[in-house]
Amino acid sequence: MKRRRFTLVRRPQGRPVEADFALVEAPVPPLGPGEFLIENRYASLDPAIRGWLDEAPSYMPPVPLGEAVRATTIGVVADSRAEGFQPGQWVLGLNALETHSVARAGGFTAPVDISVVPSPTHFLSVLGAVGMTAWFGLLEVGEPKPGETVLVSGAAGAVGSLVGQIARARGCRTIGIAGGPQKVARLGARYGYDAAIDHRGKDEAALSAAIRAAAPEGVDVVFENVGGVCLDAALLNLRHGARVVLCGLISEYNAVAPVGARNLWQLIVHSASIRGLLVRDWLDRFPEGVAGMAALIREGRLVFDEHVEEGLERAYPAFMRLFDGTNEGKMILKIS
Ligand code: NDP
Repeated sequence: MKRRRFTLVRRPQGRPVEADFALVEAPVPPLGPGEFLIENRYASLDPAIRGWLDEAPSYMPPVPLGEAVRATTIGVVADSRAEGFQPGQWVLGLNALETHSVARAGGFTAPVDISVVPSPTHFLSVLGAVGMTAWFGLLEVGEPKPGETVLVSGAAGAVGSLVGQIARARGCRTIGIAGGPQKVARLGARYGYDAAIDHRGKDEAALSAAIRAAAPEGVDVVFENVGGVCLDAALLNLRHGARVVLCGLISEYNAVAPVGARNLWQLIVHSASIRGLLVRDWLDRFPEGVAGMAALIREGRLVFDEHVEEGLERAYPAFMRLFDGTNEGKMILKIS
């Protein structure tokens, strides 16, 4: 039996190019004791994948050259030599961009009950790591209080669109930053942001002025998804005791040299804090976050968008949409 795999053949230098990857066909390896075979149906295309392609130290080892690119997938068990995993069962886990993955019981793959959701893709978006990043990042790291102002960059994206709505549901005023007039319009119309800012064509001074116009008293929570100019401008608009949640730095992921924040002094000026967020730290509490998100959806207070592209051969262009800003919701690849 053969499987198709989207493999890494060369470490990208800056922005990944198509030749850094290869779509290959290879035999499915035989299952060892405790292993099971997954027929992957959907994969989550996350900005974090970019970091795993580099040799640099990270919270995960680099994707080895010649190996399929690591990604969270949801699929169906096709064969099993592992207790607790039967053929036909749906599973969710950290696997790879390939038609079939071999996983091991006790690893990062667990059964999921897809009967509770309209689409299995929701486990890759609002009820998955993306949703949990928004939930725990905002509520546990940002600690927003009713009446406070929350600033979100990447606000029309998978994580950002949820952060804005959770903050609003908690009685906060929300300001979103996104790229281009269409996304900016969607911030208010679809995700309920009180103010929306277009980052395109703005340098630090212009972006800072736009934030100041939307929040003359400053912001209490910054949920940072983008870094670079967005973070520098946000730091110029902190209120006393502000919390900066460092969730992501997508504008810097393809930089050849480290970028670095330029206005850290403002943290001192405003007795503010900045804290990195790693969603897997909250793994034990995911059920609580899922219940919270599900309640907001039931109450009609949370909408979410998924952008599904079809076929492993679309893996490269679909992944790059994250960096071009042309994804409209959580970027998901339909594998089979
Ligand atoms: P999104 O759906 O938000 O897609 C990425 C968006 O980033 C693009 O649509 C674009 O939005 C924006 N963007 C890309 N490049 C730039 C740039 N150079 N300057 C400004 N904006 C840019 O992705 P996710 O919601 O999946 O991820 C958002 C962030 O959250 C990422 O930084 C990611 O790494 C981080 N993350 C962190 C986790 C953690 O545990 N810490 C877990 C999950 C995600 P626009 O068109 O509006 O510019």
